[in-house]
Amino acid sequence: MESTLRSDDFLNWIDVHTVEPPTLTDRFEVGELEPGLVHRLFLRLTENAVHQPIRVPIMVLRGAEPGPVVGITAAIHGNELNGIRSIQRLFETIDPAELAGTLVGVTISNAPGYIRNQRVFSDGQDLNTLMPGSAHGNDSQVYAYRFCERVLPEFDYLLDLHTASFGRINCIYARVDTTHAVATRMARVLRPQIIVHNAGDKTLRGAAMALGIPAITVEIGDPQVFDSDDIRSTRIGIRDVIEDIGLIPPDSEIATGEAVECVRSSWLYTDTGGLLRVLPEVATIVKKGEVIATLRDPWGQILRTYRAPVDGIVIGKATNPAATTGARILHLGILGSVGG
Ligand SMILES: [Zn+2]
Repeated sequence: MESTLRSDDFLNWIDVHTVEPPTLTDRFEVGELEPGLVHRLFLRLTENAVHQPIRVPIMVLRGAEPGPVVGITAAIHGNELNGIRSIQRLFETIDPAELAGTLVGVTISNAPGYIRNQRVFSDGQDLNTLMPGSAHGNDSQVYAYRFCERVLPEFDYLLDLHTASFGRINCIYARVDTTHAVATRMARVLRPQIIVHNAGDKTLRGAAMALGIPAITVEIGDPQVFDSDDIRSTRIGIRDVIEDIGLIPPDSEIATGEAVECVRSSWLYTDTGGLLRVLPEVATIVKKGEVIATLRDPWGQILRTYRAPVDGIVIGKATNPAATTGARILHLGILGSVGG
């Protein structure tokens, strides 16, 4: 018995497909792209130390008819990947000939972080805490600035796609400034499991809103994976949003369920270190006083029992049992009808 494959076994085992190369560009202007077509762009933002351009991949479905521009961004946290595939799947299912307006997908917004399988930018900074960046700042600040300057102004609406971070899980939920009626409507039409009011300062969403672009953040499950169920739900929800905006006629698929709305939310943290077990599942209601987590010492003795301080819904939770003092336990949403 041969224990390994021989070189002959590798004949014809790879099909190499021919693909369209992207158009390299330093500028992004939707109005310059030919209507009725799909465009693949590779937009230069900054350069690395060998003077190689750092580019972000952008897909554009330029509709045959004029209309609003809806931007969808993914992976501004480089390890949050479900949004990338959600954009790709959405674009595969839409013919630009049936579009009145333009759909733009920035699939990998934080390319340096994505390459490193990490949330943060190459200099260790979280891009989504320093928007709209600074023209004369450090590496991440300039990248953020140019992203906001070269990409955002082309949009009339923005959906920014994220996932949970490592060691945590999320349901599908939307963050939105619910004092803004159009943005709130976008979140409701998407039909995530939960909608949370959040002003969104210093985020990409906040930068868009400051430019007068209605924007929502969509959290889609877990980091560094493609979850096909979450991707399908997101694709259908985004399609419903662009139908509602009027880019495309309604199709037969409609996102199901009614979102639970939260007026605010906050993380609960441990007050000492140990081995953490969080009990409720995401998207479940917890009642004030209900046990939500236990913390044990290395010998298995229970150090703490944590209880829900108020009624709420579990938006996300920790999955990593190794908990320091101040480790995240769960993200609790406080129920209440939001404005908008
Ligand atoms: Zn994120």
